[in-house]
Amino acid sequence: MKSKIAPANLIWDERGNPLSNHFEDPYFSRDNGLAESNYVFLEANDLPNRFARLQPGQNFVIGETGFGTGLNFLLTWRCFKQHAPANARLTYISIEGYPLRLDDLQRAANQWPELKIYSDQLADLYPLLVPGHHWRRCDEQLSLHLIFDQIEPALQSLHPKITHHNWQHELPRTVDAWFLDGFAPAKNPEMWQQAIYPSIARLSTAGTSLSSFTAAGTVRRSLQEWGFSIEKIPGYGRKREMIRAEFNPHWIPEKSQIQAHSDKDTQTWHIPAKQSEKPQQVTLLGAGIAAMTLALSLAKRGVRVQILDRHKKPFSGASGNPQVAIFGRLSPDNGDLEDFVLQSLAYAAAFYAGFWQQQCGDNCGLLQLARTPNEVEKMQRLINQLPENNGLVEWIEAGHSKDVCGLELPSAGLWFPRSGWVSPPLLAEQILQHPLIEFTGGQELTPVYKQGLWHLQDIQGESLHRCETLVICSGFEAKNHPLLDWLPIKAVAGQLELVKVNDQSQHLNSIVSQYTSILPAHNKLLSLGGSYRLGESSLDIREEDTQANLDKVRRMLGCDMDLTTSYSYSRTGVRATTPDYLPICGPATDLDGLKLDFAALRKDAKTPIHRTAPALPGLFLNLGYGSRGYAYAPLCAEHLTSLILGEDSPLPNHLQRSLLPARFPIRDMIRARL
Ligand code: SAM
Repeated sequence: MKSKIAPANLIWDERGNPLSNHFEDPYFSRDNGLAESNYVFLEANDLPNRFARLQPGQNFVIGETGFGTGLNFLLTWRCFKQHAPANARLTYISIEGYPLRLDDLQRAANQWPELKIYSDQLADLYPLLVPGHHWRRCDEQLSLHLIFDQIEPALQSLHPKITHHNWQHELPRTVDAWFLDGFAPAKNPEMWQQAIYPSIARLSTAGTSLSSFTAAGTVRRSLQEWGFSIEKIPGYGRKREMIRAEFNPHWIPEKSQIQAHSDKDTQTWHIPAKQSEKPQQVTLLGAGIAAMTLALSLAKRGVRVQILDRHKKPFSGASGNPQVAIFGRLSPDNGDLEDFVLQSLAYAAAFYAGFWQQQCGDNCGLLQLARTPNEVEKMQRLINQLPENNGLVEWIEAGHSKDVCGLELPSAGLWFPRSGWVSPPLLAEQILQHPLIEFTGGQELTPVYKQGLWHLQDIQGESLHRCETLVICSGFEAKNHPLLDWLPIKAVAGQLELVKVNDQSQHLNSIVSQYTSILPAHNKLLSLGGSYRLGESSLDIREEDTQANLDKVRRMLGCDMDLTTSYSYSRTGVRATTPDYLPICGPATDLDGLKLDFAALRKDAKTPIHRTAPALPGLFLNLGYGSRGYAYAPLCAEHLTSLILGEDSPLPNHLQRSLLPARFPIRDMIRARL
């Protein structure tokens, strides 16, 4: 599902206004862009008044077509701060197929000194130029969900594919006000094509408003055909007319307006039911990277978090190696896993930047060397799919590695300048400083559901903690619980080696990964490895694994570098992997309920079942990361937080579906194995 996005090609006029070279159209009024945007979008949608009327905890959602310079976003951010009560929230979803490069974004913002406090923050959080969904927390109240993609796939990625059966399935992600801002329809018909209106209608609800600078007849007619009542009002400045519109929530499309589909994109099984109340407190069982990142995300949303673990210290299990590389394998192929890895790595780059500033590791970069000619071809294909200078990944020819990693290596590969390593103990220390996060370790606990609460009982059966919302983050051990014994996760023990830095290896200054990985020295020790012992959960240290890890590094570095003599010690951890290599992140499936509600799938896999997969009350799962927890968990934490709090997920619809725990029992029912 990767798409090509192209960075904006701009011309600047004498007053410093950007114009699109491609569309031959200005981004906003060349006389007064700020006043025009305010009039056309903020005032026409009555935002100052609607923000002022928000209730405590209420989340207002804006949907914009064409992020451009971010001017509308900056104005909305300021307006929200000026008018909304302190405990209301704003989610700003915006789509952009030709994103500005960061320096262009900053150059455009120079014109608006009155917005500087916001534009400086936007520059800090502006995503790398890679396609897909980029979610950012701007402050405690406001989040930006920026989608770098073409308009049609981007809008469709926000909801299940529309059918007559699923039209009325309530979505947690609906828009309160639309800003349609995509250059003049005559100059850019693609942006206003017919295919966008069904999505706009599907994402609208009671009270949804819309405005646009254009009053073109085709736009008005299409919006009317899709449930909006339109009003023409005077345009800004010299423009005669613009439109303002309102969605009719009782409107439903004619049969002829919707094509019949029955593929997996139409499913609503992963769409969470709307919640009446948001939890104030959440308990996490397990204290690895899945729990730590989730705790931070929840705490930043004002939720109190209690982390419980059998070990006395956090990161004592698989997440607890002395140094951990932020790594995931990108691929040019299309598929959920490939999309997920790209989104996760782009998010991880932003997530760890703050921790690296706090010296919790090092943003040293990572060089992934190709292992075969086929891999070289795939890597080059990937690079060709992404914009040049995207900031996430670039191509390095064989023999050109010295500049990036300090050693001349014989293979070509991918260079990830935003990657690096973290030290789990330092990361834990930082995260646990948050006043809303509490860690209690040293007790073996089992969750039991009694009288509407989850009780965490010790081995004697005494209930030590109680909670309404519990997230199991205990990796492969989750399977030991009778309610979760169906989880198709496998233990994979992995051993890594710690070797003392020597004259040769001290030149290594970034992570190198190929047959295995080697990390630059930390406390005078280099980490290398690890091995994969599929299906094993023993923590043994094995001599043959040590030898294999050292041999792989020697082969990878292709030189006489001998690390054997400086071997110091080994460490083994056990990870949990899933059959599709995607994590399990979402509500814990109520297997009995599923067997009843989804029984029809056993007879016909295409039966439309437009309901949410049944879940156990207040129980969520966050596990199955294999050896990629540090790369994947930060984004999954935001997704899970959105599920727990009933808000907009940072993930596109197809990735929300692909992380759903119930995907496995549903697949088994379809194959008549359950
Ligand atoms: N709202 C913007 C601002 O505040 O700066 C101005 C938007 S500008 C008028 C229109 C935007 O739509 C441009 O940034 C352009 O790249 C984007 N755009 C045009 N065609 C598109 C398409 N087919 N898919 C996605 N974005 C598109």
